Amino acid sequence: MVHAGSYDMKLVILSVIIAIFSSFASLKIMTRLAVTKEIERQFWILAGATIMALGIWTMHFIGMLGHHLHSPMTFNTSLTFLSFLFIFIGSACIYVITARSTIPYLSKLIGITVMGVSIIGTHVIGILSVQPMGVVHYHLLLTLITLFLSLTIGAGIFLLFLYIKNTTTHITLKKLISSFFIGIGVSAVHYTAMEAVQLTEGPLSFNVERMTMISSLVFSTDRLAYVVGLATIVIILSIIVLTYSDKIKAEQQRLLLERELAEQTNKAQQDLINTIQRQQGVTLKYVKIGERYVHTLAEGELLAKLGLTPDIVVGKDLRDFLPQDYAEHKLQSYIKAWEGEVVNYEEQLNGTDYYMSLSPVIENGKVIEVIGSGIDITERMRAERILLESEKKLRESHALRRTLIDSLPIAILVLDTNLNIISVNKPHCHLFNIDVPIKEIIGKNVVQYRPNYYKNINEEEAKVKGIIENKQPVIDEIELHSGRIIKRSYFPFFVGKEFRGHLWTFEEITERKQIEQANQQAREAAEKANLAKSRFLSNMSHELRTPLNGILGFAQLLELDDTLTNQQRMFVHEINKGGRHLLNLINEIFDLSKIEEGKLTISTDSIRVDTVVNECINLIGSAADQKSVQIIHETENVEEGYVYADPIRLRQIILNLLNNAIKYNRLNGEVTVCYTYQEEHLSIHIRDTGIGIRPEEQEMIFAPFYRINHAYIEGTGIGLSLVKQLVSLMEGEVGVKSQVGLGSEFWVSLPRAACCKDAINTPNERKNANLLKQNTYIILYIEDNPSNMHLVREILGTVTGVTLLSAMTGKEGLKIAAQQSLDLILCDIHLPDLHGFEVLERLQSNPLTEHIPVIALSANALKEDIHRALEAGFTDYITKPIDIPAFIEAISEHMSNE
Ligand code: ADP
Repeated sequence: MVHAGSYDMKLVILSVIIAIFSSFASLKIMTRLAVTKEIERQFWILAGATIMALGIWTMHFIGMLGHHLHSPMTFNTSLTFLSFLFIFIGSACIYVITARSTIPYLSKLIGITVMGVSIIGTHVIGILSVQPMGVVHYHLLLTLITLFLSLTIGAGIFLLFLYIKNTTTHITLKKLISSFFIGIGVSAVHYTAMEAVQLTEGPLSFNVERMTMISSLVFSTDRLAYVVGLATIVIILSIIVLTYSDKIKAEQQRLLLERELAEQTNKAQQDLINTIQRQQGVTLKYVKIGERYVHTLAEGELLAKLGLTPDIVVGKDLRDFLPQDYAEHKLQSYIKAWEGEVVNYEEQLNGTDYYMSLSPVIENGKVIEVIGSGIDITERMRAERILLESEKKLRESHALRRTLIDSLPIAILVLDTNLNIISVNKPHCHLFNIDVPIKEIIGKNVVQYRPNYYKNINEEEAKVKGIIENKQPVIDEIELHSGRIIKRSYFPFFVGKEFRGHLWTFEEITERKQIEQANQQAREAAEKANLAKSRFLSNMSHELRTPLNGILGFAQLLELDDTLTNQQRMFVHEINKGGRHLLNLINEIFDLSKIEEGKLTISTDSIRVDTVVNECINLIGSAADQKSVQIIHETENVEEGYVYADPIRLRQIILNLLNNAIKYNRLNGEVTVCYTYQEEHLSIHIRDTGIGIRPEEQEMIFAPFYRINHAYIEGTGIGLSLVKQLVSLMEGEVGVKSQVGLGSEFWVSLPRAACCKDAINTPNERKNANLLKQNTYIILYIEDNPSNMHLVREILGTVTGVTLLSAMTGKEGLKIAAQQSLDLILCDIHLPDLHGFEVLERLQSNPLTEHIPVIALSANALKEDIHRALEAGFTDYITKPIDIPAFIEAISEHMSNE
């Protein structure tokens, strides 16, 4: 028999309310899970699972108690607890799964299944725990519906949990609605399951495990239901209150946190703005609005340097505040950055260089703003510009140096210490036929470029090695195979004290060498020519003097002849004058040529100058008389008038000047000789009242052979040039001042001397000649020239008591000298067989002749010839042409000295 039973509607409603209520509490706890911390979460999972399980189980238990059967119901305690455990596990499972932030599909499926199964399990086990009086039968369709509902409701519960977890709006309402549906669903499963259970009347079997509710409880089943329901509701309410209080607490914490966060954020933002403002660079932001790129931020010190302020920039497009061209140019970078590219560029504005980097900020694949940061690079750019400038200068100087060394006429080669080429110039490559571009040679070892066409290659190699090892400057010459001569110079190359390499220079000097050789040859030729000239002049002098000896000698003899008519005497006088002029000319030419050759020697001595002047005035006296020129010798302070001079040359100088002063004077003119004294010098002035010299010629008259054309005055143009040369040899000076028509004044300045020495007498000019003391004298004259012999014979013929023997050769002379008892020998120097010096030597070496005085008689009038002869032992030296009075005087002197 089937027991249909009946329901206590109040308990049914209570069970449903509990189901809904517990569902709400469960959902509430579930939403708490999302905001709780990890430790609390465990608690809330446990609490949620308990509440949910308790709700469903209580709903089920009350529903069972509300189902009144005809026989009293007992419950199997174990199964009753098992049913609770089942739903507890299911609920816990839902919480564990839904509490996770991401839930894979498999977990969802597991969640749905576990929930469905646990609902079924709870109900089935719960029903089985009831021990009614009879057998339990199951209505198949309703059982299937129960199963289906369990799974569907389980899935629904699970999905609603998920939904509520993720929803953000109207949460409480949604929870309420969801709770309602869950509660109804759970109740529906229960009551459908109850309908599916059919109890068949049977023997009531008790077993020891059975718990008899009626007997064990003092309450009725209804009362039990209410107690359980109430207890459950109290628990659920407590949990809800707990949830709310926790939520309120959490909310308070959240608000506190949010406030703190907001404060921190504000502070951070303010700090950021301050930092941005204080930064040396610039930070800006811009966004695109329409076609405009509008700045939303512009801060930093660089902004001011660029001549901008945040007010000018913020809210504006570049084109609003920058020059149009500049803005358009920069805009291209802005556009690129807005397209998502990081753009870097360098620019200059208002004299400030800056570097800007634009970085787009991308959100969800879209650029939402661009942040730009710029730094001041003015200093760096200036440094770069200076660097560029100095690099440019360096390049220029390098190019200049290269041009310079390439344009030098010498070849240059610079090597480092390893003999690698540091520098080389084009002339070097050209000189040594190196046909490789210079830049390819630099850095290479010199060995492969060393010229191997030296004439003496091995010798040169060794020499170069030695030079490099010695590290001492060397200049030498090398010869190439081709015969070309190279001047080679080596200099060690130091930087500070550190040896850094070798510097070689090479210069082709073949042409110079040839010129030098040619010059040398020319010099030698000139020297030869000069020698020839000297010899020629010497010979000429000798050759001219010899005939002049005849001319002047015989003319002098004629002058002595009293029988001559006046006219004849005048003729003889002219011959004499012409002869003397000629003799003078020969002497001067000879002196001048000697000076030019540098062979005229001067022997200076301290000389009293007025003595020499007096001698000269005496000598020139007759010429002055002829022109009625008066010579005035001013001798003021003359006792101080000492000079360093060669006496013979000084006389020559003064004679020359006096001669000119008379020659170029007017008739009845005057010549004044006076002296001026300076500290170191004494000047002799010879002033005339003659024709004068034009200023432009006053310098030129001292040049050799320069004459002012005076048709009526004889001259050669040699005198003054000789004066100038002689004065300069004596370290003096000569000059003239003159006025045309009024006269001239020549002056000669010579170094002053302290002591005195009178002018020496030359052999030709003697004073105090002794008269002949004996009546007979035998003189031998050795002379090859018949004319000279004839002249001397004639001269001595005028002297009483003198017998003249003659010899034409040296040997003949020696023979006569050995045989005769001679008083004097006159000997020519140039004899055909023996030199005059040899004749003297032989005479002196022969005891028979050694005592005889020997006077040299020669046309050689050079001072050194005279000197040499006197040194050799000649008693005297008489130059030709013979000055008869002086000649006689000399002879008399030496014979009387006997
Ligand atoms: P020379 O008298 O044989 O011609 P000099 O060398 O002695 O040669 O003089 C050169 C020139 O200087 C002379 O030709 C003459 O014109 C000029 N001269 C020299 N001395 C005088 C002087 N005292 N008065 C004027 N002219 C002079």
